[in-house]
Amino acid sequence: MESAGPSTHHIVPDVTSDSMTSRDYYADSYAHFGIHEEMLKDTVRTGSYRAAIINNGHLFKGKTVLDVGCGTGILSMFAAKAGASHVVGIDMSNIIDQAQKIIEANGFKDTITLVKGKLEEAELPIDQFDIIISEWMGYFLLYESMLDTVLLARDKYLKPKGLIFPDTAKLLFAAIEDQDYKEEKINFWDNVYGFDYSCIKDIALREPLVDTVELKAVVTDPYVIKEINLLTATKEDLTFTAPFSLVATRDDYVHAFLAWFDIVFDCTHKKVKFSTGPHAQYTHWKQTVFYTPSTITIKKGQEITGEISCAPNKRNNRDLDIAISYAVGGEEEETTVDYKMY
Ligand code: SAH
Repeated sequence: MESAGPSTHHIVPDVTSDSMTSRDYYADSYAHFGIHEEMLKDTVRTGSYRAAIINNGHLFKGKTVLDVGCGTGILSMFAAKAGASHVVGIDMSNIIDQAQKIIEANGFKDTITLVKGKLEEAELPIDQFDIIISEWMGYFLLYESMLDTVLLARDKYLKPKGLIFPDTAKLLFAAIEDQDYKEEKINFWDNVYGFDYSCIKDIALREPLVDTVELKAVVTDPYVIKEINLLTATKEDLTFTAPFSLVATRDDYVHAFLAWFDIVFDCTHKKVKFSTGPHAQYTHWKQTVFYTPSTITIKKGQEITGEISCAPNKRNNRDLDIAISYAVGGEEEETTVDYKMY
């Protein structure tokens, strides 16, 4: 209730996006500051971009830079600080209204131009750029990832011999011992307060789990299943089937496969890189766990061989269909599981 009178002092926030409702936030998942808070506070992520950009002023000085999916404008500001002559940041989310205030508050109004819209449909104030910067990676690297958009930006806006930050991404694979957690997440459905819920077990198994895994759970050597060079990759390369061969490092049981990715800024002077693997510092991408229907027994030196295929779902191309086939120790019997990330 308001009390009238001249002495009442209301602080009225400046509210361009305060009128947003939960439905708007659902449709525009990047509009709320919370998701940006999580990304900005991921110091491995944001710190790596900062190092790659700020410590490479010789690459940025006097150059034009396109920031694909600029969010709050953090990468655009790094590029401006590194000496770029002009930076264009584009984002289709309402967060860009805040980004505009942020770049103004930090004195970058003349160096950074922000464009609100989908890159695929937008008109940019510059035709050709020297450098593209973007943080496009999703869970399992490719889930909900906007790599398609970055590749399109490259083909349309990057000068010949232009640079992309980052320019290399690798997807890695291993097998893990995960008895306790599999019990809690998968076998839980066998008996829920005495009832048989096992129909859900089949569904749960097919949904990869994004979580952190301890290094000591990894029981094989890692295997690179996909390497993406952003300067040359095509959209078609993101639908792939790759063989793998995982060599056990000890006698143990395997309950799941594990995937993570590594990122390299190959064009930087002292190659900046980071990993989202179980051996590395925590990132908000964690790792991705694919439970197997039954427990595998392996001996040190034995191999689990197979292949993994990955494709955007036909009905919703933001979802990923992942199939893993595997056999142990050269045995004939192969198991195939279809997973779905959504
Ligand atoms: N660069 C920021 C934000 C990264 S999140 C940072 O590093 O903190 C990715 C951003 O890309 C989101 O804000 C999302 O709205 C935007 N985005 C995704 N697809 C896009 C597209 N096709 N066109 C424009 N922006 C896009």
